[in-house]
Amino acid sequence: EALNSNEPEFLQAVHEVAEVIIPFIENNPKYQGKKLLERMIEPERTIMFRVPWMDDKGEIHVNRGIRVEMNSAIGPYKGGLRFHPTVNLSVLKFLGFEQVLKNSLTTLPMGGGKGGSNFNPKGKSDAEVMKFCQSFMGELFRHIGANTDIPAGDIGVGGREIGYMFGMYKKLRNEFTGVLTGKGIAYGGSLMRPEATGYGTVYFAQNMLNTRNYSFEGKTVLISGSGNVAQYAAEKATELGAKVITMSDSSGTIYDEDGIDEEKLAFIMDLKNVKRGRIEEYAKEYPKAKFLENTRPWNIKGAIALPCATQNELNETDAKNLVSNGCICVSEGANMPSTPDAVAVFQKKKILYAVGKASNAGGVAVSGLEMSQNTLGYNWKREEVDAKLREIMDDIHASCVKYGKEEDGYIDYSKGANIAGFVKVADAMLEQGIV
Ligand code: NDP
Repeated sequence: EALNSNEPEFLQAVHEVAEVIIPFIENNPKYQGKKLLERMIEPERTIMFRVPWMDDKGEIHVNRGIRVEMNSAIGPYKGGLRFHPTVNLSVLKFLGFEQVLKNSLTTLPMGGGKGGSNFNPKGKSDAEVMKFCQSFMGELFRHIGANTDIPAGDIGVGGREIGYMFGMYKKLRNEFTGVLTGKGIAYGGSLMRPEATGYGTVYFAQNMLNTRNYSFEGKTVLISGSGNVAQYAAEKATELGAKVITMSDSSGTIYDEDGIDEEKLAFIMDLKNVKRGRIEEYAKEYPKAKFLENTRPWNIKGAIALPCATQNELNETDAKNLVSNGCICVSEGANMPSTPDAVAVFQKKKILYAVGKASNAGGVAVSGLEMSQNTLGYNWKREEVDAKLREIMDDIHASCVKYGKEEDGYIDYSKGANIAGFVKVADAMLEQGIV
């Protein structure tokens, strides 16, 4: 703890896992005395570098680039890049640590890593984003590779940024390989990758609801965020007959009692992905909807909550509000969106609650499928990728049930995901010796 005392998000993520894994190790002699958790929480390597770039006015800026290569016991490092002003070592170590267990859960051979920069893409021109991405890759290219470390997108990094970074990597290395995932379809991307995290979060929720004979049909759904994950979670929930009544961004929440249907969602996708505008615009376009400034969706009445924005966006009070308003299911699209106090409320009330490393693993799973397609030199059809995604989400659900089912029948998905993720990585580390 002393070593990482200035890293609150990382400590929070490690505590959540340790609470489950320490008792598990105590009951399983095979894992005792091997310092497995201690080894897992120390990154194999952390790279930190300067990212200088010039804006459209000729002014020079300096950002910090980081890549945390956390664990490669079961495969090359794999995990997203985040561009957001709040990015620091603590945030990336928390995300990298979560990624190791998440990737293990997917059943695919991927280790864990995470990276990014404190660069803020908001308000930047296309040319400025390109220059930043090129400068960032101008150093990162030395440390990554299709069999070493394969970054993907995350907050602030979507198809546009991946394209610019891929172009620069290819130029510097003079090789065309699947070094990044989330690529455009024209140059090696996989169909369904943009949809994968959001769809997967909903598929996982569907599996949870099935255990209690519920479904999405006719339910009201609260979604936070309006980025990649939130958009496709909304699309799939609506397709399954639910009514999505909220979405949000860092300025506030839109609440549309009539539901954000297909046409309204298309407006949001254009607003966020093309115009790069604020969610507030929605209430101007659809005046029956309300814009709630600086507010999150959690005190609105809804049966299912899908937090899809960022870490620690749902606290104890929010959790209590959700439960008292009749929420029966929370499936995390974001990483660590619920604070530990909020998780405790869900579990005490025994509502269906899925931790992000299980419910949002669909994104990295399809990234793994993108890597397979790149190696094969062949692309699967949309239906094929979707079927594989569903199967992986079903498998993750089954693993959570296997390790997380309690005596009274309640499924502790957090416990299940952490143990199932840990076991595979720990077994590989034991077999590979102390390295
Ligand atoms: P995007 O950048 O596409 O969207 C992020 C959304 O969250 C935006 O609406 C943004 O609002 C909002 N947001 C970001 N930071 C904050 C904040 N500090 N407070 C309030 N709102 C905020 O990112 P993604 O959709 O890709 O990622 C969302 C979450 O899902 C993250 O936790 C990410 O780690 C996780 N995730 C993503 C995966 C993927 O495949 N993309 C895979 C697995 C998990 P604004 O526009 O105002 O910034």
